[in-house]
Amino acid sequence: MALENLFSLVKERWKSPAGTVTTEPPVENEKPVDKPKPSPTFKCPRCMQVTPAEVYADNLKVCPACNYHGRMSAKERLNIFVDGGTFSEFDKDMRSLNPIDFPGYDEKMGALREKTGLVDAIITGTASIHSIPFVIGIMDSNFMMASMGSVVGEKITRAFEYAETHKLPLVMFTASGGARMQEGIISLMQMAKTSAAAARLSEAGGLFISVLTDPTTGGVEASFASLGDIIIAEPKVLIGFAGRRVIEGTIKQHLPEDFQSAEFQLEHGFVDMITERKALRRTIRHILRLHGFGGDKIA
Ligand SMILES: [Zn+2]
Repeated sequence: MALENLFSLVKERWKSPAGTVTTEPPVENEKPVDKPKPSPTFKCPRCMQVTPAEVYADNLKVCPACNYHGRMSAKERLNIFVDGGTFSEFDKDMRSLNPIDFPGYDEKMGALREKTGLVDAIITGTASIHSIPFVIGIMDSNFMMASMGSVVGEKITRAFEYAETHKLPLVMFTASGGARMQEGIISLMQMAKTSAAAARLSEAGGLFISVLTDPTTGGVEASFASLGDIIIAEPKVLIGFAGRRVIEGTIKQHLPEDFQSAEFQLEHGFVDMITERKALRRTIRHILRLHGFGGDKIA
């Protein structure tokens, strides 16, 4: 066989693996077939199991396969934790004045407000749980990693002060990457301010329950979040101040693998109890009643 013939045979085969040549002209303007959209799913970052998003949401954003507690928005958490229709929000429209004129900060905040429906990284207010009135604060990691700037610090402080004045217990759900760098020193000052507010509530005999959710780190962990009369953590959450490399570089020592987990912190006395999300309402109601809120003390 001549070489050219062999080439043309190979080319023909390449075009049509089955060895046949389609002679029908291509159909023009054919509407694409509407393929059914796959239903949304959640892929667990820990065990990689894929779960229908609806099942994951119904399970309070906990992976049904490995009990991984996923992150929730402040509004989602509010919906599952307090009695329906009882939430009354404080300082709804408080917003930062960009105190150090950080470039692009206002634009970034504007975009996040639109995306999340939040004004800043925390919502605070009063609500009730099993008909027991209390003050609640919930941080939202979807908003600038729930970093603590002037608004977050002020809202937390006011929540402590309201609890003190009205003799209500305070439950604060924390989740934070730390300080709001866009507010510089103003951000760092919130650590002292919120800690002082927590101390005043404590001196007045109030009750502050700190619930650490994933992740609680930086200046929030190093201030009011660690000052709870009772510190509860969700399973396996990240709790810490600085990252591993920074600490190891500073103290020149190797740290245990899980040293920033809720379980490690429980073992070493920083966390009082680890409670699964589905048991939080019941557990906190029990603690409130033990402390004389919402009826007779439980013996
Ligand atoms: Zn999982």
